[in-house]
Amino acid sequence: ATPIGLLVGTGRGAQLGILIRGPQVLEDTRKLDTVVLDKTGTVTTGIMAHTGTTPVAGVDADEILQLAAAVEHHSEHPIAQAIARAGAELGPLAQATDFHSEPGGGVMGLVDGQRVVVGRPSWLAAQGTVLDASAQALLEEAEAAGATAILVSVDQQFQAVISVADQIKESSAAAITELQRRGLRVVLLTGDNPSVAMKVAAKVGIDPADVFAGVFPADKSRTIAELQAQGKVVAMVGDGVNDAPALAQADLGIAMGSGTDVAIEAADITLMGNDLHQVSAAIDLSAKTLSTIK
Ligand code: ADP
Ligand code: MG
Repeated sequence: ATPIGLLVGTGRGAQLGILIRGPQVLEDTRKLDTVVLDKTGTVTTGIMAHTGTTPVAGVDADEILQLAAAVEHHSEHPIAQAIARAGAELGPLAQATDFHSEPGGGVMGLVDGQRVVVGRPSWLAAQGTVLDASAQALLEEAEAAGATAILVSVDQQFQAVISVADQIKESSAAAITELQRRGLRVVLLTGDNPSVAMKVAAKVGIDPADVFAGVFPADKSRTIAELQAQGKVVAMVGDGVNDAPALAQADLGIAMGSGTDVAIEAADITLMGNDLHQVSAAIDLSAKTLSTIK
């Protein structure tokens, strides 16, 4: 069965920067009716920047940012890199030991004998940090501003909200319109908070009813399976380690070339570029290649 795969992989596809794993992929592409897009790194650039730190009373914003950075320094997550970069700009970072990273949750480590936890609100809560009304207010304020709000606790005491944000890729809105014009339903799937997800969806023309936010990595593939159970033929486009199970679950897994090796390994199609227009191009390519060999 390899000749077609080779043809697609080395011919027109390679020219377009679209690598298709094998002939069956062409058939599956033709039947698609739903395209699920990961948000961070797929619809948006994934290049996070620190946009603010809001500490509780009595805590210094720069100091808590540096403490969080000391731990995030050990993670490769885009949010971690943004926080580590911002902290390092303020001065040398302390050593963190006992590092642990929870996919879709956050990180923790020991700094100067203190347990520092940095991550999404629900994960901090699960680690025993109490988020009282004032913590909730800081969190809501950051999210209302369109940021991804990352919480920091020290020895289980809530200390600050760190805001990070990235930008929508310039090409995303037009690429999504193009997919919708083909009659495809476009769904946004993200571990990020609903407030950010809804803002991004509104800007790129995705129906609010088709936004799945706050989804943990393990549940991303379940969301795909649920769509399939409704009879949908689903493509999933993603870039992160967290997307790999969903890419594998989808009828068609499409990895962004800029993504992680794990995502690329799980995918049927790899886009060498960074642009969602390539999803339509891959669908066209499959249709053309199929009609050529039929
Ligand atoms: P996405 O689906 O947008 O790619 P992830 O599944 O990687 O997001 O992460 C979901 C959420 O978990 C993030 O929005 C963030 O709140 C939190 N998170 C994950 N990793 C980290 C980290 N290293 N530091 C802080 N927060 C993190
Ligand atoms: Mg991602």
